[in-house]
Amino acid sequence: MLEGVQVSADADQWSWFPDSNGEFTVKSVKKLLLEEAGLRNDSVMEWCKWLPAKVNIHVWRSMSESIPTGEAHKKRNVLVGDSSCLLCNSADETAEHLFTACFTAATVWNGITSWCKISNIIAFSVKDLGIHNEIVGSERKKEAVKGIISIACWSIWRARNNVKFYNVPARIENILSEVKALGFLWFSNRSKHRGVEW
Ligand SMILES: [Zn+2]
Repeated sequence: MLEGVQVSADADQWSWFPDSNGEFTVKSVKKLLLEEAGLRNDSVMEWCKWLPAKVNIHVWRSMSESIPTGEAHKKRNVLVGDSSCLLCNSADETAEHLFTACFTAATVWNGITSWCKISNIIAFSVKDLGIHNEIVGSERKKEAVKGIISIACWSIWRARNNVKFYNVPARIENILSEVKALGFLWFSNRSKHRGVEW
């Protein structure tokens, strides 16, 4: 085995074999582990570039139930009153419920599908919303709709917070108005597709 080996006079060094340059990076370890375990990275959220970070982060946290919902408090033994959904009072408040199964969310998704002229948004988890890729249309439209879905989650959460902290009843038409206004503001000012008309 050693017959063809040529020993150089250089100092010995470590080399990381999974990387073609021999360079060790955490990224390459992660890739190796995912490949070895046969896992696919398909639940990774796609960052929407024309949205403020706070909106992207909110969706990303919701995907792993890391927003302070009633159920999240209860699990951590933080007892701050009733943990049922503040928007419908008919289920435990989780991120999954708030953004998918809740009556308010379902009505908001209906409003958005007819406004954006897309097929029905059917989501069983927040991840389903994050990877809603079946939109037919131009790249520009796909990019816009992706962001609008994230803004809707953000607005539903804001409406919920207004109920909780300011006793302001949630109104679906207000949520939809906010989604449209913020969507227009951010898409026309922050995306590469400027010059969008109201
Ligand atoms: Zn609800």
